[in-house]
Amino acid sequence: MPDRRPRQNGQPLITYLLKPGELTLKGGNRESFEGILRRNLMRLLAPAGARLEMTAGRFFVQCPAENGALVEETLGRFIGIAGWAKTRVCEKTPAAVLAAIAEEGKKFLEAGIRRFKIEARRTDKSFPLDSYGIRCAGGNAALEAAPGLVVDVKNPQGIISVEIREKAYIYGDSRRGLQGLPVGTAGRGLLLLSGGIDSPVAGFMTASRGMGIDAVYFHAWPYTSAEARQKVVRLAEIIGRYTLGVRLYVVIFTKVQQRIRERAPLPWATVLLRMAMMEAAEKIALRIRAKCLITGESLSQVASQTIENISCTQSRIKLPVLRPLIGMDKESIIRKSEAIGAYETSILPYEDCCVLFSPPHPVLRGNPDEAARLYDALDLETLMTEALAEAAMEKCGFSPA
Ligand code: ATP
Ligand code: MG
Repeated sequence: MPDRRPRQNGQPLITYLLKPGELTLKGGNRESFEGILRRNLMRLLAPAGARLEMTAGRFFVQCPAENGALVEETLGRFIGIAGWAKTRVCEKTPAAVLAAIAEEGKKFLEAGIRRFKIEARRTDKSFPLDSYGIRCAGGNAALEAAPGLVVDVKNPQGIISVEIREKAYIYGDSRRGLQGLPVGTAGRGLLLLSGGIDSPVAGFMTASRGMGIDAVYFHAWPYTSAEARQKVVRLAEIIGRYTLGVRLYVVIFTKVQQRIRERAPLPWATVLLRMAMMEAAEKIALRIRAKCLITGESLSQVASQTIENISCTQSRIKLPVLRPLIGMDKESIIRKSEAIGAYETSILPYEDCCVLFSPPHPVLRGNPDEAARLYDALDLETLMTEALAEAAMEKCGFSPA
């Protein structure tokens, strides 16, 4: 049979159909959401030589066949689409549509899928078959082409979808997207990123609600090694793959930590360090116009995350602090970390500064007045200003062309 796929410069092209996620819920904001979704798609898919078209609530991505794997990998980590499918595009004639359905039926059988159904939508009412007619005739065409298939509308193993629009689209292999809202629709936030398991997950979850992510890492060099810093850079790169890049600020916080060791009662060391991190992070956030801070705190997971200590931690700052993991247990956080591809990096054995400086008997329920008194006595202003002036910035993950 001749290869009738569309071509560009002699190269066969393939087409993907994308279903946007929650955009439909957003009423008046819909247009700007769609604009941001389109911009994100174009930036992420440009390296695959892909073209993007949008009609009536659907995006279509067209790329050279040889770049299909790259496009699929990219769509698999794209926040803001409910699902996507590699689709056949054919003429709007019943014969062409039924032939395409028959081909999808054969592919099902090859993949071991037997029970199937057909879903049809017809936005072009001039097409001679209505959606019921497409389902009946399509079912017959598939059964004839692939004996062994069985129609099962209640419990199918596979669905062949047919959409009759400006052209006819037929696909049998739909994938679920990452869902969420397009990154950039909710402004930017500054993630406090340590080398642990929790904070990368917190960054990803906030990005899933549409927030662009920048990050700050407080590094206790030379107490924490260059490898520890490299690990955080790697984690920022992993988050950046989903968020179109992360700017990572690395602040050398050693002098601040030493001051805490010298002047504060040991049980308070971690809470005071967290207060200092929050204060420094807020200063960076205001400078880069981030609208909030984000942490990987989860209620009562460790001593510094009791509600009393969390209150102390945020008591010196005004920006809101988002803690998307607050109600999650460690097991679910680990699963999420694995799913986003961060876990293997997070468990590399380089010590975080907090581990090195953590007291054996930390305060469990810090009193905010006492915290304020101890914090003021640290007299951190000059040290903090110096540390921030020397902060380094690295662009991690996807970098826009
Ligand atoms: P994680 O796995 O994210 O390190 P954790 O359970 O180890 O979290 P803590 O060490 O108590 O928790 O840290 C709580 C939060 O404080 C972290 O999730 C992170 O947002 C922030 N944080 C801790 N250490 C640092 C650091 N060195 N630089 C930047 N942020 C940090
Ligand atoms: Mg940690």
